[in-house]
Amino acid sequence: MTQSNHEHLPTCSFCGQTGDQGKPMFQGKGAFICGDCIINGAATVKQMMSSDSTVNLEDIPKPKEIKALLDEYVVGQELAKRVLSVAVYEHFKELTVLNDEDEEDVELKKANILLVGPSGSGKTLLAETLARMLEVPFAIADATTLTQAGYVGEDVENVLVKLLQAADFDVEKAQRGIIFIDEIDKIGRKSENPSITRDVSGEGVQQALLKLIEGTVSNVPPQGGRKHPNQEFIQVDTTNILFICGGAFEGVDDIIKGRLNKKNAVGFLNGNLENEELNEKTILTLVEPEDILKFGMIPELAGRLPVLVGLEKIDEEGLLRILIEPKNSLVKQFKKRFKIDGKEIEFQQEALELIAKRAFDKKTGARALRSIFEDILLDLRFELPSSTEIENVVVTKDFVETKNQKNLIMR
Ligand code: ADP
Repeated sequence: MTQSNHEHLPTCSFCGQTGDQGKPMFQGKGAFICGDCIINGAATVKQMMSSDSTVNLEDIPKPKEIKALLDEYVVGQELAKRVLSVAVYEHFKELTVLNDEDEEDVELKKANILLVGPSGSGKTLLAETLARMLEVPFAIADATTLTQAGYVGEDVENVLVKLLQAADFDVEKAQRGIIFIDEIDKIGRKSENPSITRDVSGEGVQQALLKLIEGTVSNVPPQGGRKHPNQEFIQVDTTNILFICGGAFEGVDDIIKGRLNKKNAVGFLNGNLENEELNEKTILTLVEPEDILKFGMIPELAGRLPVLVGLEKIDEEGLLRILIEPKNSLVKQFKKRFKIDGKEIEFQQEALELIAKRAFDKKTGARALRSIFEDILLDLRFELPSSTEIENVVVTKDFVETKNQKNLIMR
């Protein structure tokens, strides 16, 4: 845009920015206001009114009910579901007690959670399913992309912006939300390749994260990103925000095995370690705080995540169940999608087993299932909606193997 064009652009009467680059600008009586200022203003008004907002935590489901709801979406991970049900129930119950002024002032320590499990084992799914069922705002951050304020990357407090957005800028509501921080195992641990971690292992990020998790009042710019001087900040108190952190902690299984073997050698454990305790699938469920510290997590961080639970590795059978069983499983989703077009799709058990096997070979947990599934069905998804002859399709093992439509059973 040339200088002369620029001069004729309307200017926001509040922050002075011009309506260039397609930014929305609204004209009032003798004044303009830009989209950013409208958003900021709305956020501020909401904050001013938020003391009136009530978050209904009276009807928090009991641990058993939480577990049953998790069962609908998350396959396996029995221990994690149990531990989370209790931790989350107690956390939200305590918030209601803390609200009750008649109650004696007992200091309750927030029970933030650390989930140890390989990629694609359901850590994020557990956290977001909990938030959804409890109807509390939810935000996800990735520890490896977090940087200290002012560096290139995502400021630690940006996650509060996301939480605020999820809470529709109701600060009170956001302050009772859940934040999931993925790849927490990369914090405070020196990487062999320093360029990958950027500032992650840096003191600044660590300190900012520790404060956030423990509880701090943070000044959050309503839209995230750069803070600019005319902006109204929103103050968010993180004291009651529940932090669920997740990490794969690659190699921690060897640390656990080492600990168990040592105990066994000096006679703490009887029985057959080989078969029982050292089962590859469940080894992480035996994780203890000392293993995490030995892995290299800084003690200050481990101390702020007192609820520690390990997840199972998902085997082929688990992947097959994930394809079929959850309330929103891929098989159910696709059946529904096809049904909307008046078509019926069925899957032979052997076809699904082969998909599970392929996903297992990718070693990314359940993560690979969707892309494999979508890829195999692409041609069908393309053609079937406009087909007038075919109403019913059976996906066979041979079709999964060859993607040749001759191997489909069609009626
Ligand atoms: P993680 O956070 O452990 O890396 P995710 O929770 O992001 O893994 O899982 C990736 C995808 O795989 C999710 O979208 C979910 O659909 C599926 N998935 C993973 N684990 C399970 C599980 N135990 N039950 C059902 N689905 C799962």
